Amino acid sequence: MPQGDIGDRGASVLLAKLEKTYAGVTAVAGVSFDIQSGEFLTLLGPSGSGKTTTLMMIAGFESPTVGDIRIDGASVVAVPPYRRNIGMVFQSYALFPHLTVAENVGFPLKQRGVPKAERARLVGEALELVRLPGYGGRYPRQLSGGQQQRVAVARAIVFRPRLLLLDEPLGALDKQLRENLQIEMRRLHAELGITFVLVTHDQDEALTMSDRIAIMNEGKVAQIGRPEDIYDRPSNRFVAGFIGQSNFLSAVVCGVDNGVVVSNYKGILLRAVTSLRPSVGAEVILTTRPERLRFADSVSDSGSTDNRLAVTVTEAVFAGERCRYVVKADAGITMVLTEASSAVIRRRVVGEHAEIVWSVADTILV
Ligand code: ADP
Ligand code: MG
Repeated sequence: MPQGDIGDRGASVLLAKLEKTYAGVTAVAGVSFDIQSGEFLTLLGPSGSGKTTTLMMIAGFESPTVGDIRIDGASVVAVPPYRRNIGMVFQSYALFPHLTVAENVGFPLKQRGVPKAERARLVGEALELVRLPGYGGRYPRQLSGGQQQRVAVARAIVFRPRLLLLDEPLGALDKQLRENLQIEMRRLHAELGITFVLVTHDQDEALTMSDRIAIMNEGKVAQIGRPEDIYDRPSNRFVAGFIGQSNFLSAVVCGVDNGVVVSNYKGILLRAVTSLRPSVGAEVILTTRPERLRFADSVSDSGSTDNRLAVTVTEAVFAGERCRYVVKADAGITMVLTEASSAVIRRRVVGEHAEIVWSVADTILV
C-alpha cells in the first residue's frame, strides 16, 4: 500500500518504534508494524500487555514517549485527537443518558458544525448501518446493552472517519450477543470499507473477526499475522500457549534438513518444521495442537513418516462434539489429544495402550 495514498476509504497506519512509559512503568516497549488501508487488525493479548495504551496513542489521547505514528503517511504525534478524524468505541458505551439516540449519534456532527438537516440525514444513515432505524427518539436506558453498543458504533462512524478504533467493545455483553455482534461488526467493516483496529483479550473473537492479529505481550508484539498463520505457525512459546491449546515437548536437535528439524526426545526421534536454524545439540521446544494428534490406525499409518509415540490413556472425557483424551507417553510426557466424536470412532478407555501419530507439518519448533 503506497504511503500517502488516500484515494481509498480506509486510512493506513504506521507505528514506528512506539514506546510509552508512565513514571517508571513501561506500558508499550517498542512496537513497530503497519496497518493497511481497509484492514481489520486486532490487538490481542493478556490484561496489561499494552493494547489500550497502543490504541490511545493512535487516537491521540496519549502521546508516545518515543517513536512515531503515521496515518496515511503523515506523522500525527503533534495532531490533537479531534483533528485525526478517528472514530472510537469503548467497552463502556459512554452514551449521554439525557440525550436521545439521535442526539447521541448526532453529537460528533454538532461538534463539527454540521447543519441540522444534514445531521438528521447522516444520523438516519448511521442508524440504518447498525440496524437500528427508527430508534432515534429513544433514550439509552430504553435499550438493551447490545443496542446501546450499536448506538455507540453509530456515533463513532457518523462523521465518516477513515479509521475506527474499538477497545473491548463487546466485553460487557453475554456470549450469544457477543457472537451476533461479531458478525455485525464484520459486516459493517465490509460495508464501510474503512480500517478497523480492535482490542480484545478474547482469542476466539480475534480469530473469527480479523484479517490480521498482532499478539501483544509485555508491551511488545509477540507475533503478527493472519489468524491461520498465528494458529498453525506460532513463532514462539508465548503465542503457542496463548492462542488455542498446545502440547509442548522439550527435545534436543540432532539434525536440520531443509526446514525440518530432527530432534531426540528421550530416545525417540521427532521431526518438526521451523524457520529458525537451530544448531545440533540445542535444546528446543516442539509444539503441536491437541486436534492435530490422532490415535494410530495400524493399516493407514503403517510406514508413514509422521511423528509417533507409544502412550497410555490416562483420562477420557466425552465433551459433546469432541472427545478429549489425556495420554502419557511411555517416555514420560503428558499430552492432550482431541478427536471429533462420532458413532463410528471407537472411544478409548483409561488404561488403554495406544500409539499416537501426528504430522511433521503440524509440529512446530518454538
Ligand atoms: P491492556 O489494555 O493490554 O490491558 P494497558 O495498555 O491498559 O494494557 O496497560 C499496560 C500497562 O501500563 C499496565 O501495566 C498498566 O498498569 C500500565 N498503565 C496503563 N495506563 C497507565 C497510566 N495512566 N499510568 C500508569 N500506568 C499505566
Ligand atoms: Mg485494555
